[in-house]
Amino acid sequence: MMQLKVEQQKRLKKLLTDERERLTDHLEARRDSPAVSMGELSSCDNHPAEFGTETFERSQDMALDDASRERLNEVERALARMREGEYGTCEVCGEDIPFERLESVPETLRCIRHADSGLSDARPVEEEVMTAPPSGAGEARRRQDDRFDEADAWAALEEYGNASDTVNPQELESAQGERDMERANSRAK
Ligand SMILES: [Zn+2]
Repeated sequence: MMQLKVEQQKRLKKLLTDERERLTDHLEARRDSPAVSMGELSSCDNHPAEFGTETFERSQDMALDDASRERLNEVERALARMREGEYGTCEVCGEDIPFERLESVPETLRCIRHADSGLSDARPVEEEVMTAPPSGAGEARRRQDDRFDEADAWAALEEYGNASDTVNPQELESAQGERDMERANSRAK
């Protein structure tokens, strides 16, 4: 069940423990800061706009903290599975998770096939299969887009007509007839 080589295991363990340390440090630093932030808050009590910004930033910080805490949980779980000798196998199907995947998402407990069936992956699944587009890709299309200017837009729209054209053919004919009459009349004068 454990296909990982010893050095691969060591590397993944290092990635996980480093990440755990980073997250723990981050969360501890954050835990110390609210007092400071509150001080700042009370000093701008008379500036409602600033207060709003501050509150917004704080709520964003808290959302980030939640994400960090969540991620720390995952890292802890992965380390626990490592201690149990279960690390590197999918918790759903029990199959080996390729080293490349573990290396990019060391806290994952699932193979790529089951990655999106739970919330255990902090990173989007797409990241695993995404490759950068070749350089220059899409440039021709962008040039094409540039050429589609306002005049082109009008030409395209006119094919479909605009609101003032929505008359039925009979009205169009009679309108044409009236114009002809007018022309005839004016000629007669
Ligand atoms: Zn699986």
